Amino acid sequence: MMEVSQVKNQLSTNLFENLAEHDHEQILVCNDNHTGLKAIIAIHNTVLGPGLGGTRMWNYNNESEAMRDVLRLSRGMTYKASISGLNLGGAKAVIIGDAKTQKNEALMRKFGRFVNNLAGKYVTAEDVGTTTQDMEYVNMETDHVVGLPEGRGGGGDPSPVTAYGVYVGMKSAANKRWGTDSLEGKKVAVMGIGKVGMHLLEFMHKEGAKFYISDMNQEALEFAANKFGATIVENDAIYDTDAEIFAPCALGGIINTDTIGRLNCEVIAGAANNQLEDEDIHGDMLVKKGIVYAPDFLINAGGLINVYSEYTGYNRENAMRDTERIYDTLNSIFKVSDETGMHTQAAATHLAEKRIKDIMHVQSTIS
Ligand code: NAD
Repeated sequence: MMEVSQVKNQLSTNLFENLAEHDHEQILVCNDNHTGLKAIIAIHNTVLGPGLGGTRMWNYNNESEAMRDVLRLSRGMTYKASISGLNLGGAKAVIIGDAKTQKNEALMRKFGRFVNNLAGKYVTAEDVGTTTQDMEYVNMETDHVVGLPEGRGGGGDPSPVTAYGVYVGMKSAANKRWGTDSLEGKKVAVMGIGKVGMHLLEFMHKEGAKFYISDMNQEALEFAANKFGATIVENDAIYDTDAEIFAPCALGGIINTDTIGRLNCEVIAGAANNQLEDEDIHGDMLVKKGIVYAPDFLINAGGLINVYSEYTGYNRENAMRDTERIYDTLNSIFKVSDETGMHTQAAATHLAEKRIKDIMHVQSTIS
């Protein structure tokens, strides 16, 4: 095992190598002794627009881990924005520390100052470990923040919009698999009945779908069982049901060699980020098993689309309408996947990269 000092050394000596690996544009390392702020802002790509991505506060084991996370997450935002047709780039910030004990007004406002220094190249929002209240503190020091409460011109809770995107994505995938996008009578296994999972159940229930649900939260399970007639299953058993559709709405990495072997579904469409443990291996395994996979970073983009509408004066109806386009975008991904033999996650990545290249070409012309 490497010592912490070795990891740190490796990080500093490999810094440019790390940025070059996925072509990151810039990082800003922020330090403030008075508030104890230690943050990294990573800007991956700003060809399409300002880099937008939330600020995660997490007690990372070491700086290397924080750096890896912010580089990975910022790159993911580039792809999500691009495939969703938004004029946004990809970026993300991490604050190293315990959100429960180390976060306060001064720390968040100091962070806001660093965001402001980037003059709009980076736009922040809330993420794991930060709240709408924290973003209000950030907003005291910079205008480059979205995801504020509705009363302050923001988009409020994004989960219903995210759930709507997952729902229309699921319908597009159902259409691909069965030639009809109706979910009537379809059995859907939903893993994770949190903010998104619960709203998703509501949309599907209106269409007459039936459910298996799993979560550790007994209260949420019982609520959903009563309201939607859902059948509760033990956590791990969610992979073994006879559901035709699987909707992962809890954790990433849960579609892997073990679970693919157990799943009986024909469609996977859910909200969780990074569902495929290994994109190439498991993307291809799903194809071989005849399972239609709706790429997560497209169908869970409703939350991003929601904050994007804050740029043009927030309106939830517009945000929902824009989110509905996920249905057609997914159709285009299926088409590319059929034509090229790429699995759907690879086809979505390809289209996202193509859009960035095309727009870069557009920008190369003198106006
Ligand atoms: P949440 O925290 O409200 O809900 C997650 C739920 O999953 C919780 O109820 C939790 O108890 C449950 N859970 C955790 N581990 C589980 C397990 N092993 N088996 C079953 N249930 C488990 O989160 P959310 O906002 O509903 O988001 C759900 C997923 O969607 C997350 O992966 C999130 O990153 C992703 N996502 C959310 C949004 C959004 O707008 N909220 C946007 C994009 C992506």
